[in-house]
This record gives sequence, structure tokens and C-alpha cells, in this order.
Amino acid sequence: MTHHAAQIIPTRQLFGPGPCNPYPEATAALGLPLIGHLDPAFIARMDRTCEGLRTLWGTRNARTLPLSATGSAGMEAAFVNTVQAGDVAVIAVNGLFGERMCEVAARAGAEVVRVDHEWGTPVDAGRVAEAHPNPTVIAAVHAETSTGVVSDIAALGAVKGDALLITDAVTSIGGMPVLADDWGIDVGYAGTQKCIGVAPGLAPFTISDRAFERRVPKPQSWYLDLGLLGGYTNGAPGGQRTYHHTAPVAMVASLEAGIDRILAEGLEAVTERHRAAGRGLQDGLQEMGLELFAAEGHRLPQLTTVKVPDGVDSAAVRAYLLENFNIEIGSGAGQYAATVWRIGLMGPNANPASVTLLLGALKEALA
Ligand code: PLP
Repeated sequence: MTHHAAQIIPTRQLFGPGPCNPYPEATAALGLPLIGHLDPAFIARMDRTCEGLRTLWGTRNARTLPLSATGSAGMEAAFVNTVQAGDVAVIAVNGLFGERMCEVAARAGAEVVRVDHEWGTPVDAGRVAEAHPNPTVIAAVHAETSTGVVSDIAALGAVKGDALLITDAVTSIGGMPVLADDWGIDVGYAGTQKCIGVAPGLAPFTISDRAFERRVPKPQSWYLDLGLLGGYTNGAPGGQRTYHHTAPVAMVASLEAGIDRILAEGLEAVTERHRAAGRGLQDGLQEMGLELFAAEGHRLPQLTTVKVPDGVDSAAVRAYLLENFNIEIGSGAGQYAATVWRIGLMGPNANPASVTLLLGALKEALA
């Protein structure tokens, strides 16, 4: 059999819903010499990474770590460790990722009480609170990547009562404030490939002591059992490092470098950079006569949803941008696949030059 030459990979501007282009520091760290996952140098690296994640999460939770898989594994970990047969999970659904939560919670055995919202609108904490008298968990997505909408997680924390609050911060972390402790988040999961500006592959995760004490004793997933993962990072109070699985050392090095980059700039400055870029893009799109999809006042700066104008072939425009500008933007999600575009300005891409480039390219594609 012939071994064909590898295809030359083009350099793309990743302006879709993720992954974004990583911070250069995060990419450079992938080339560091590989070390063993129990090497003292790696253990120090993991400690620094977990501490950096606490800052990004706005938490002092001891159990804050990068799970070795993508954001969806964070979602799995959140549910398999908190619900089992007979437990009630009230889940706010205002987009694709809320829907995925329902599927994951149901597979973990929970009775799912689904609180549906119109796509493009934020979660209504009052409706979530009224959905069931004593749920085991309530859950919502902070930044719905499928619709471009931000929801008020603090409002859910205020009404959660005795329930544990699970929050998806995949698209918000590193791009907008996430204050897990202040908002009452008990279990949070995220991803590296959005505003943290690192390649996909890890799921930053945090769980409060209260949630950990109430965890499912023997979840159906061995890999994501937080009880067993305690010794994997500094999450085990006073504990020795023990082997659970081989840490993805190169990805952790990259995440450490990405977090360092963000904290060197300053979380507030990074948030402001995302806010300004998103505002610039959304203003520019509207000046071009395009209509935004997400409800006004609840729009994510880092992920803009825009309606495809009548008579325009949405896939043809995306192909034009890719072929002529090396620009990737996203199609819509679910039923909006052909009628909405999703444009991300995340991580290093959240800057004025990206806005100018995007608006110019889109003008040409639509001309
Ligand atoms: N939740 C949200 C809000 C997301 O945007 C995504 C990914 O796009 C996920 C969960 C799933 O993460 P992953 O695709 O990294 O598994």
C-alpha cells in the first residue's frame, strides 16, 4: 500500500464557535520536552495549573482540576458524580448544550425535569425554581454557544435551595466573569478551546466540598469518578499523588501557559478585550443591515449569532470565507443550521483587527 504525503494544513482564522486560534504561548508549550506524569516538575506544573484554574473559576475549591478530555466529559463528570437513579435533575434548556445535559443526566439515571426556553433567550431563574419542590441538582449553561446567549447564574444560585447547582462554563470561562463561589456554583465544567485560548483536550472542572460530600458513592464511570481522581491532583487534602491515569502532560503544559498568558494580561483586561471586540462586531454587522439572533441585552460578546439574510445560501458564504480568506465561521445549531451564522471572537482572536477583517470579508462574500 502506498503511504500518501500528508496534506498541507492551511493556517485558518478560527472565528467559529470553537476552537479558536490558541494563544501563541499555549502552542509553544506543546513543544516543551515531554516529562513523566509523576515527575516532580510535572506535579509542580499541575499544581500551578489548578491554582490558575481557581482564579479563572473564581473559587477556592480544593477540587479544581483539568479533567483529561473535552468539555462534554466535564458535563458527564458533573452528572455521574451527583445524580443516580431516583434523583431529580431540573435542567434549564435554552439551546443545544442544555439539551445535551438532559441526555447525559438521564443516562446517569436521573429523573429529568426539563425547563424549556425559546432558543435565543436567557434562562429564567424563577421558572427553574418552580419546576420541582426538591431537586437533587439544578443545571444551566452560562454561555449557550448554540444561540449566543448569556444567562444569569447568580440568579439560579440565589434560588437553588438545598439543590446542587451545576453550571456549564465552556464558552464563558476566560472571556467573561465566572464567579463560582459568589454565585453559588457547586459543580462547574469548562473547555480549553474557547476563551482560554488553548487547543481542545481538557475540561477545567471544579466541585465544592458540599457537592463532593454528597457525591454518588460509586458512579458508573470509573474514569470520571471524582472520588478516585482525588489523588490525581492536589485535590486530595494532604494526600500523596497516586496513579489514576496517565496525565496528558503536553496538554497540561499548554493549559498552564495559556492561563499564565491570561493572568499576565489580567482577567479584567481580558474580559474587557472580549467585550469590546464583540461589541465592535455586533455594531458592524448591524450597520451592514444584518440582524442579530440572540435577544438584546443577553448577547455574548465572544460568540455572535447573526441571521442569514433572505435569499442568501449560508453554506456558500462560509465556503467563500474559507477559500478566499482562510476564515472559518460556524453554521447555526439545531433547527437554525441554515438560517444563522455563529461568529466567535475568543482568546487571542478577541481584538479589533479580527473585527475589521471579519466585517470586510463578510461584506465581500455578501456583495
Ligand atoms: N457546552 C458548551 C456550552 C459548549 O459550547 C460545548 C462545545 O462546543 C460543550 C459543552 C461541549 O464541549 P466539547 O465539544 O469540548 O466536548
